[in-house]
Amino acid sequence: MKTISNWPNAIAHIDCDAFYASCEAARRPDLKGRPICVLSSQNAIVVARSYDARALGITTGMPVWEAKKLVPQAEFLAADFRYYGQLSHKLFSILRRYSPDIEVYSIDEGFMDMNGIRTLWRKPFRQLADEIRQRIERETGITVSVGISVTRTLAKLASESNKPNGTTVVPGRRIERFLADVAVSEIPGIGRSRAALLHKCHIYTALQFSRLEDTVMQRLLGRHGMLLKQELSGISVMGLEINPPLPKSVARTASMGEVTTSSQLVAAHLSYHTMRLVSELVAKQLFTRRIHVFLTLATFEKRGSDICLDLPSSSLKRITAAVKKGFITLFRAGERYRGCGIVATHISRAASATPDLFGLMHEDGRQTELMLTVNDINRKYGDRTISLAAVRRLKQQQKRPRFQYPLLVAN
Ligand SMILES: [Mg+2]
Repeated sequence: MKTISNWPNAIAHIDCDAFYASCEAARRPDLKGRPICVLSSQNAIVVARSYDARALGITTGMPVWEAKKLVPQAEFLAADFRYYGQLSHKLFSILRRYSPDIEVYSIDEGFMDMNGIRTLWRKPFRQLADEIRQRIERETGITVSVGISVTRTLAKLASESNKPNGTTVVPGRRIERFLADVAVSEIPGIGRSRAALLHKCHIYTALQFSRLEDTVMQRLLGRHGMLLKQELSGISVMGLEINPPLPKSVARTASMGEVTTSSQLVAAHLSYHTMRLVSELVAKQLFTRRIHVFLTLATFEKRGSDICLDLPSSSLKRITAAVKKGFITLFRAGERYRGCGIVATHISRAASATPDLFGLMHEDGRQTELMLTVNDINRKYGDRTISLAAVRRLKQQQKRPRFQYPLLVAN
């Protein structure tokens, strides 16, 4: 590895700790100290859990009945993406106070271009990261972990190395020491089969990975491996996507890892894909108008069905209903399936949507606003019960001018 200076480039990765469970704990102070599980759209499987639920052996993807048997005292809650989305937007608005160049990577993860930010705020990176963490916790009730390094891959590995609620700063000269303790399977983009291949070549740590000969890397993992190697060597080749164009579609698909005739199993996979799809739409503030559901048969033949929504939406309820409709049309008893997926098309920006005649979109929006306010107030004044009228009054009193850093005016 060529020696590089400490900060030829600076990128932060900010990642919420157990995001959905933390959101639930933030609005329900009575849940403090109890294991929390968030369930899939049909309450079939656990899609997220708090750190204590994790410690008690609950895994994501576990069927609810199994989790309930394992940890009966846990709180099992239906996912509420509108609310998670609002907290996510709040989190990103806090990040934008520090740097205008933010990539929304997912509902609970983002990257920040940190070049010049130290000079602007006159603080070292570690202090800035700690301050960002504390501010997010104070204003949203959610803890995050922050990693700062010279490339996006290193920043992500840094934040993951110290969870929950940690700060990890890896300057150029400390990369090798840092990578020696990172397993190859932890490198983003190295899944189970690639890790197994690397293990066969006696590559176990990210440091060994970054030192692989180019010709060997090219043969093992192709272009993607070469890019990862450069990123891990401190050469930034994967930039940030700060203003992504409107996507044509958003898709979630996967092989089920087995061939099955079970309608329950296929439905559970579709339900999981639905959650992930909605999470992405909400994070990126997008709506969809049409859902394509498909099943892949054992023969690799694909069969699909399109369902139009009544209105552009990112609502879990609406999209689940559409997926269910597609599934019922497509699934045939006795047939063998190996995969399934969902593709959302006719994408538009949520901000540009006009409320429909029946005010359905507004109805949903108002509810979330209120939940957030109750959330804020509960955090500020403890779990005192307050009437809805009082919530509105308090909210008006709380209105403060939005902070804007004068030097960060765009263009
Ligand atoms: Mg996270």
